[in-house]
Amino acid sequence: MLVEGAIVDADGARPGYVRFRRGEVAEVGARGTASVHGRGRRLRGIVVPAPVNGHTHLADGVSVREPPPGPVAALVASPSGYKFRLLAESSAARKAAAIRAGLREMIRDGVGATLDFREEGLAGVQHFREAARGLPIRAFVFGRPLRRPIDPAELRAVLRAADGIGLSSAREEDDQSRRAVARACRAAGRRYGLHASEAVREPTDRYLDPRPDLLVHLAKASRADLLAVRDAGVSVAVCARSNALFGRQPPLETMERLGLRVLLGTDNAMFHPPSIWAELQFAYDVSRLVRRPVSAGFLARAALVEPWRWLGLPERAAVAPGMPGRPLVLRLPPEDPEYQVVTRTTEQLIVRGRPRPARPPR
Ligand SMILES: [Zn+2]
Repeated sequence: MLVEGAIVDADGARPGYVRFRRGEVAEVGARGTASVHGRGRRLRGIVVPAPVNGHTHLADGVSVREPPPGPVAALVASPSGYKFRLLAESSAARKAAAIRAGLREMIRDGVGATLDFREEGLAGVQHFREAARGLPIRAFVFGRPLRRPIDPAELRAVLRAADGIGLSSAREEDDQSRRAVARACRAAGRRYGLHASEAVREPTDRYLDPRPDLLVHLAKASRADLLAVRDAGVSVAVCARSNALFGRQPPLETMERLGLRVLLGTDNAMFHPPSIWAELQFAYDVSRLVRRPVSAGFLARAALVEPWRWLGLPERAAVAPGMPGRPLVLRLPPEDPEYQVVTRTTEQLIVRGRPRPARPPR
């Protein structure tokens, strides 16, 4: 199969072609210079690395009803908020089914990996692993120990099972807990992430000391806060639709201007389906609506490039022969390719499967 049009990847956007052999990238080059002519399937489109969903809580999909009114704290606060009551009332099997449904939905969307924050301690992580088994998606799970003060044995057990720890908001965890978690993650070679400045601004020392690997939200962060985050070299997962549901907007324009490393996530599966394409479209349009426009290139990088880099798998974000994982072929016009990818991609535009074998002559 030969795809002529454009490529959007770690090297940015450019006109070009990609030739596939048995579904793998065999050749990449400038448009119009492909070495094979006249044979095999040809189409016009855009080739991109598989996107990554930078922040999910897939088990929350046990309920997909319209959320009740009220502040976000009342909905997702631990342990008595709506979300935690739902999780507590749902069987392990129901939560596993919700996680699996979310992962399948992302696979249909061409998503290559997800970073899921899983509550409910060691059991929560184990249920997630069980649900994700055998599915063609890299499902990274960040667990949350239950006991406070932190119980080192529980923390070690969660870290053995998970890819890292994902804590609730900075305000809800004292210095001692954050320090213990950060230290244990470093020692175990795992990642430490936490939610910060979602509903109210939190001072940066609450979430940058000790330094995390990932911050989620920062919807209420000031410019000075964002500068401190950038200078600390900490990446941020932003969830525009989730924030909008509660009347907030992440400062994407400032993040772009200051040069922060940003990932895009779909957050709680009870509120929104885990569609990275919907997230991209929404983030782009809303930034225009509020007259703080963010570039399509910045958003494309947040879904296609930054998360792979964050995961230590930068080769997944570069469309090149021999790359691990398969890039996506999108049936989109190649003009302004980042804009096309961010504003127009849907599941239906993903070209599936291998090229059909040539029919034998009759
Ligand atoms: Zn979250």
